[in-house]
Amino acid sequence: MKTGHAGPRQSASGTGDWSRREFVRLSGSCAGYLAAGLAAAPLTARRAYGARVRGQVVAESDFARIEQLGEGIWAVVSTPLKNGSTHFETTSNGGIVQGSQGLLLIEGYMSAEGAAWVAEHAERLTGERPTHLVVTHFHADHCRGIAGVTSAVDSVYATPTTRELMATGEEPILPGRLLNEEATDRLDLGGVTVRFTARKGHSPSDVTMEVEERQVVFCGDLVWNGMFPNFVDATPSHQVRHCEELLGRRGVEYVPGHGALADADGLADYLGLLQDLEIAGRRAAEQGLSPLAAAAAYQIPAPLGEFIQFGSDYVERAFVAWDRELVGNW
Ligand SMILES: [Zn+2]
Repeated sequence: MKTGHAGPRQSASGTGDWSRREFVRLSGSCAGYLAAGLAAAPLTARRAYGARVRGQVVAESDFARIEQLGEGIWAVVSTPLKNGSTHFETTSNGGIVQGSQGLLLIEGYMSAEGAAWVAEHAERLTGERPTHLVVTHFHADHCRGIAGVTSAVDSVYATPTTRELMATGEEPILPGRLLNEEATDRLDLGGVTVRFTARKGHSPSDVTMEVEERQVVFCGDLVWNGMFPNFVDATPSHQVRHCEELLGRRGVEYVPGHGALADADGLADYLGLLQDLEIAGRRAAEQGLSPLAAAAAYQIPAPLGEFIQFGSDYVERAFVAWDRELVGNW
C-alpha cells in the first residue's frame, strides 16, 4: 500500500474484494481472524457486537463510532458488523487524546480510509491537528492504515519489536519514535499525561496506555470484550498476568482492542476466561494431551457467559498457544 491509497473498498455484497484478496493475505493476523469470523457471524452476534454505548457518541459511520469519555478524550469503537453487513475500514478500536500541547491518535487501523476518518473527526472535535500517533502492535487491523494520517502527524510511536515486525510486512511507513520496552514511557500532551507500558502476550510486543488524569485505559488487543480472543501470536501466560494487573480497577473505563467499552465488572468474565484457559492449558501439558484433544474436551464455564466464537478452531488455537509456551512443540 502506498501513501495516499484510500484503502480497500467494500462492495455492496458485504465483504466484497476483502474476502478474495485481503482476507487471504491477512489470514492468521487478528484482521484475518476477525474478518473471516465476523463475515459469518450469526445475527445475534452481529447485534451484540459493539452495541453497548457507554460514552457520548459524537461521530458515527457504518464502520465505527466515536464516544467521548471525558474532557479531551474519546474512544473509537469499530462496528464491523453494523446493519447486517461487514465494514472493515477501521476494524480495531482506538482513541483520541487531547492536551494543550498535542493531540494523540491511538492506532493506525485497518485502512488509510478508516484512519483518515478518525483523524478528520479528531480535528473537528478539538480544533487541533493530530500531532502524535501510537500503534499498539503489528497486526494489520491496528497499523495498516497509518498512511492515511502520517502526512498530518509529527511522530508515530511503537515499540522496537513492533517496528521490526511491521517491517517484515508490506507497511510502507514505519514508526519513527520507539517506545521503551523495559520501562514505562510518558507522553506529556499538556495537562494530560499518557503512560505507555510495553507488554506482550497477545503478540510479541503490545502496548497499553493509561491516561493518568482521566481514568481511561486503552488495552490494545490484550483485551477483547465479549469475544473469544485470538491466540495465533500469543504468549498466553504473559497475556493473563498483564490482564490481571490491568483489569479490575474501580472507576476505570477500559477501551478493549475489539468490542464495546467496559468497566471492571464488564470485563471480569473475560479475565475469568483467560484464567480458566490457563488452568486447562497447563493441565493438558501435564497430561501430554494434544491441543486438538484438549480443545475438544474444553467447555467454557457457564458462569462466564457467552463469547462470540466464529469457528471451532479458535479454542484449539488457545491450546496450541499454551502448548507452544509450555511444551515448545510448535
Ligand atoms: Zn491483534
